[in-house]
Amino acid sequence: MNVLVVGGAGYIGSHMVQLLVQQGHHVVVLDNLSTGYAPAVTAGKLIVGDIKDQQATEKILQEYGIEAVMHFAACALVGESVTDPAKYYQNNVVATLNLLEAMRVCEVKKFVFSSTCATYGIPEIVPITEKTIQQPVNPYGFTKLAIENALRDYAKAYGLGYAALRYFNAAGAALDGSIGEDHNPESHLIPIVLQVALGQRKSISIYGDDYPTADGTCIRDYIHVHDLGLAHLAALERIEAGQGIELNLGTGVGHSVREVIDVCREVTGHAIPELMGKRRDGDPPELVADASLAQQTLGWSPTMPELKQIIESAWHWHRRNPTGYCKN
Ligand code: UDP
Repeated sequence: MNVLVVGGAGYIGSHMVQLLVQQGHHVVVLDNLSTGYAPAVTAGKLIVGDIKDQQATEKILQEYGIEAVMHFAACALVGESVTDPAKYYQNNVVATLNLLEAMRVCEVKKFVFSSTCATYGIPEIVPITEKTIQQPVNPYGFTKLAIENALRDYAKAYGLGYAALRYFNAAGAALDGSIGEDHNPESHLIPIVLQVALGQRKSISIYGDDYPTADGTCIRDYIHVHDLGLAHLAALERIEAGQGIELNLGTGVGHSVREVIDVCREVTGHAIPELMGKRRDGDPPELVADASLAQQTLGWSPTMPELKQIIESAWHWHRRNPTGYCKN
C-alpha cells in the first residue's frame, strides 16, 4: 500500500515507518521537523512540509497515489497544553482537519489516528475499557477527543474508514538501536531516568508520592513502541470504508514511578539518585488499559510486555546515542 506517515520523523512515527517498509509498504513521510528529526527517518521518502498547507498536502496525496494516511504529528505535552492551549488546538485540531479535508478532496479513505488515554481524563474504574466515558481533564485530551468525534462524523457522512488508537505510555526503542526516543526538552519518565544513569542529570524528581496507589506514586501502562507499530499494521489491514475502529493500546499491566526507577537501576547498574518533588498538574493517579478489545479485534498482543525488556531497549538506544539525534 502507498502510505503517507504524517509525523514520521517523530518518536512513534519513525518506528512505524521502519515497520511499514519492512512489510513491503511504500512510505512517504510528511513532517515539519518542529520536534522530529530527519535522521530518524531511516526508510521511505521524507518530505519536509506541513499539513496546515492543505494544497501542498493534496499534491502529495495525488503525486504518490496515497491509499492510507497514518497521523502521528501532534503536540503531546499535558502541561504545555494547559499553558498554551492555542498551540494545541491549532496543531492538533485545525491542522488535522486540514489533513482530513485534503484526504476528502483526494478521496483517500483510510486513516489511522494517534489518540490517547488522555481522552478518558481521570477514570473512576481501572483498567480502562473503550466503554469508559471520555472526559478529558486537559486541553491535550480535548484536542484528541475533538478529532475522534470528527472521525465518527466523517465516517458516517463521507465513508471515511479509520482507526483511532488510544495509546497508553509509549516507551522503548528499536531493538537494533537505530532509532529511539529523543524529545527536547525531555519530559518523559524513562528517558529522564536513563539520562541520570548516563550522568547527564544528577537525579530523578518523583512527581508526588501521596497518590492513592500501593507505593504512593503514579501508575502507568508502558507499551513498547514496536508493539504499538504492530498494532497499527494490524489496524490498517482491518479498516473498512465508513467504519471506525477505536481501541486502547496498552499491555494491561501498570507500573508505578518507583517501579520504573527500580527497573532502570537494575538494567543500568547505576544508583540513580531520586528526589521527592511535588505532584505535576493534571497527572491522574492510575492509567492502565484493558487491552482485551485490541487483542480480539486485531489478533494482536504485545511481543515485549515486560517493563524490563522495554527499558533494556531504551537503554541500548540511549547508551549508543547519549545526545539523541544531535551528534555533538
Ligand atoms: N514522572 C516523574 N518524574 C519525571 C517525569 C515523569 O515522576 O521527571 C511521572 C509522571 O508524573 C507520571 C509518570 O512519571 O506519573 C509518567 O510520566 P510521563 O511524562 O513519562 O508520561 P505521561 O503519563 O505524562 O504521558
